[in-house]
This record gives sequence, C-alpha cells and structure tokens, in this order.
Amino acid sequence: MNSFGGLLQTSNLIGGKWRDANDGTTIDVLNPASGVLLGTVPNCGEGETRLAIEAAAEAFADWSRSNMSFRVGLLHKLHDALLDNCEPLAQLLTAEQGKPLAEARGEIAIGAAYIRWFAEEVRRAKGEIVPAPTADRRLMVTRHPVGVVGAITPWNFPSSMLARKLGPALAAGCTVVAKPASATPYSGLAWGKLCQDVGFPEGVVNIVTGSAHAIGGAIMASPDVRKVTFTGSTEIGKVLIRQSADSVKKVSMELGGNAPFIVFDDADLDAAIEGAMISKYRNMGQTCVCTNRFYVQAGIHDKFVARLKDATEALKVGDGSEDGTQQGPMIDEAGVKKVEAMIADATAKGAHIVTGGKRHAKGGTFFEPTVLTGATSDMQFATEEIFGPLSAVFRFEVEDAAITAANATEFGLAAYAYTRDIGRVFRLNDQLEYGLIGINTGLVTTVEAPFGGLKESGMGKEGGSQGLDDYLETKYMCVAGLDG
Ligand code: NAP
Repeated sequence: MNSFGGLLQTSNLIGGKWRDANDGTTIDVLNPASGVLLGTVPNCGEGETRLAIEAAAEAFADWSRSNMSFRVGLLHKLHDALLDNCEPLAQLLTAEQGKPLAEARGEIAIGAAYIRWFAEEVRRAKGEIVPAPTADRRLMVTRHPVGVVGAITPWNFPSSMLARKLGPALAAGCTVVAKPASATPYSGLAWGKLCQDVGFPEGVVNIVTGSAHAIGGAIMASPDVRKVTFTGSTEIGKVLIRQSADSVKKVSMELGGNAPFIVFDDADLDAAIEGAMISKYRNMGQTCVCTNRFYVQAGIHDKFVARLKDATEALKVGDGSEDGTQQGPMIDEAGVKKVEAMIADATAKGAHIVTGGKRHAKGGTFFEPTVLTGATSDMQFATEEIFGPLSAVFRFEVEDAAITAANATEFGLAAYAYTRDIGRVFRLNDQLEYGLIGINTGLVTTVEAPFGGLKESGMGKEGGSQGLDDYLETKYMCVAGLDG
C-alpha cells in the first residue's frame, strides 16, 4: 500500500495517542477516480469524541497560557513541514478527493500559507486602553483564547479548510477537536501527524473520524467546547446553529454558495473566459465559490458562449494523478445524479445543451464538462448549488436586471463580474449581496483577505485579520480607586 511518505494515518489522534474506534469498526475510503479502496479509518462516535474533548480541555490550561512566541514557533515549523511534504500530501489529497494534482499542490500550499499568516497575525492581536470618564480609573480591553474549538470540515477542500481553522485556533491559544469529512479523512489525519511531528503538545490537536451525527452531537452537546467552526452545506450548518443554542457556543459557518458571474458588454472577453474557467471548473465545479449562474449581456452573449464552449471542450478529463488532467471525477454518485437532474430539469424547461450534458465515457463518476444556454429563473440551478461541472448561461439586457437576478437567492458567498466601467464596479460593490466579490477575476481567495458569506452562506470570516477574531474573547477590565 502507498504510505504517501508515511502520512497515511489509519487511526485517530486523541490526546496525543493514535487510537482506533472503541468497538473496532472502520469506514472505507475510496479513490473516486478508480473506485479502489484506499484504506479504512476508525468509525468513532460519541465516546471517543468525549475523550478527545477531555484531552483538549486538559491541554487548554497550559496551551492557552503558553508563550505566544512558542506557539508562533510551532506554527512556523508546521508551515515548513507542510511544504516539505507537499508532494505526498498532494498525492494523498488527489487519491481520496479526485482533484487534479496541480490543484492539490495548490491546496497544500495555500493551507501552509494560512498557517504562516495566522502565526504572523497573532502578533498583532492587540487589545485597547480606553479613555476613562474619571481620573481614578483605567479601562482595559484584552483578548483571550475562546477555549476548546470543534472544527468540522467538508470533503471538497479537506486540507485547506482545516488550515483556516487550525491556524487561527492554535495561534490564539485554543485547542481543537477536528472532524474531517468521511469521504476524505486522510488529509485531516495527515495534519494530525504533522502537528505531532513538529511538537504540538498532547491534546492540543485531536482528529476524530466516523459518524457525523455522533461526533457532531458530542461536540455540540459539550459545555467544554466553546466554539464550533463548520464548513459544509447550509442544511447541516443550520442544524449545528440550532444545536449550539443549548450551551450558547460561538459559531462560524462557511456554508453553501450560488455564485453569479456577470459578463457586461464592455468586458475583456479573454479575461472573462479565463475567469469563467477557473471559477466554474476548479475541483470539477465542486467549490463553494464556483460559478453557479453565468449572466451574460446580450451584446457579448454569443461570443462569450462560443469561447466558453471551446475552452470547456478543451478540458482534459481523467484521473487527477495523471499528468495534464484538468478535470477529475466527481466525488460520488449522488453528486453526478444531482447534475444530471439539473440538466434534465433545465432542458425540459427549454435550455439548450451547447456541449457535454452527460456522464463521461470514462465511466464511474466522471462527467462531461457541460455548457448550457437559455437558462431561466425557474430552473433548479437558479436557486440551488450545482456542485458539478455545469455552466448555465442566462442572457440579460440591462445592469439592474443582472444585479436583481444575481441577488435572487438565499445564498451570498461569492459573486464575479467583468466590466471596465469604474462607476459600475462601485455600484456592484454596493448592490451585490455577497461576502466575496471578484471584479475582472474568477479567483479571489487569498490568506490576507477575509473569506466568508452573507445571508444563508454563513457567518464569520476565515483569513484576513478578521479570521483570528472568532477565536478570541474580548474582556473589559475597569481598574478603579487609583486616586488614593
Ligand atoms: P456536508 O454534508 O454539510 O458535510 C460537511 C461536514 O459536516 C462533513 O464533515 C460531514 O461529515 C459533517 N456533518 C454531516 N452531518 C453532520 C451533523 N449532523 N453534525 C455534524 N457534522 C455533520 O457538506 P459537504 O457535502 O461535505 O461539503 C459541500 C458543501 O460545503 C457545499 O455546500 C459547499 O458549498 C460547502 N462549502 C462551503 C465553503 C465555504 O467556505 N463557505 C467551503 C467549502 C465547502 P460526513 O462527511 O461524515 O457526513
């Protein structure tokens, strides 16, 4: 069996020890490109999660009071270890998730960059001395780690989504119980191994795999877990928000999206096509910031569609581990069926398939990158996340109509627009109800900027200086009686 540089961990990290499930049961992890079994991971539940929370709570006492320079030093070591192991980590990621190796390498690199960013940013997590209303008082605002953090991550970015949570939590002085997605647990477990290797104390980082319901339930029920950070579907996010009420936990939610991509007549067509390809087909269309709806102005519509067709047909579909592959398999059969259903719904309502439209000849969960025109607001993908390699093109006439259509969804994560009109750029920034706005680019994510959605796409930010805030409590201290 390929050990991926010794990073393939088939046990869970709990309190510094690698453990199996109490009842010895496991879950299978498959390579989505081949359907071949990669290995198993423990099928843990409530009991093991409670142990992990206990370990994290115990470790918190020392870790939260440790020297900031010590934590920063470990984070820098972790950053270096990630980059030193970039190749095996990327191969492991591709093997369990399916994305092309080039994208997997990029994910490891940005994950490392988040760790370095938060190692730097925590040095600027300043408090305040507030002017007091009377001379005998001093008012101080100080910041403190929030406590044990529960971190639940999805399968589409199993490495970088964990980085965005571990980075700020560990920098702030929090300890963590993480639950990776069951389809892609190995990337998360590899993070556990690297944290252990570089010297994070026992119990500071715990990684538990298994039943989402049981692990999630134990995390949400525990009064020791003071914060939960979740990336995943809006549906599960809502469940967790409800569950957080009983112990009034802080929550950060990075949920689903339904990104509009608006191309105005004055757009640079080359740039728009480049951005369209990145924002639509990265990770086979399975990112929360993937374009879900292309709105293209009438004057440029036909040219845009012709170019999008050519670029889409040029995509090389294959096993992500093979050289040159640009589109891997989708994660599972359910994902494929959802895309098929959306195409059937759209064509029944009058949409026209320009290219693709069906399962790929490679079989399994490979799907033809697809472009469809004549999209209308009554079609399923107008309001639901596609999460697959399907470009749905709507035509519009005037700016107001495009903005209104773009906002006609409960989601509010990413939006893109291509225009050279500077006045319009600022109107878009004012009027688009989205947390991330890309103007003349299809790729906005960077460690320096806050990532997060509005409306039902979530709450809280990851990255940027804001990314640390959710892991810190603010205390105010009033010192009185200073005139004597
Ligand atoms: P998901 O089904 O919501 O699962 C996400 C995570 O939650 C997994 O670890 C899953 O475990 C776990 N989970 C499921 N049910 C749970 C429960 N009852 N209690 C606690 N945890 C539970 O989402 P997904 O299909 O993995 O990911 C795709 C979704 O994530 C898309 O909607 C995408 O837009 C969103 N996403 C958002 C962002 C963002 O930054 N806004 C980034 C990436 C992805 P199991 O795997 O064991 O079921």
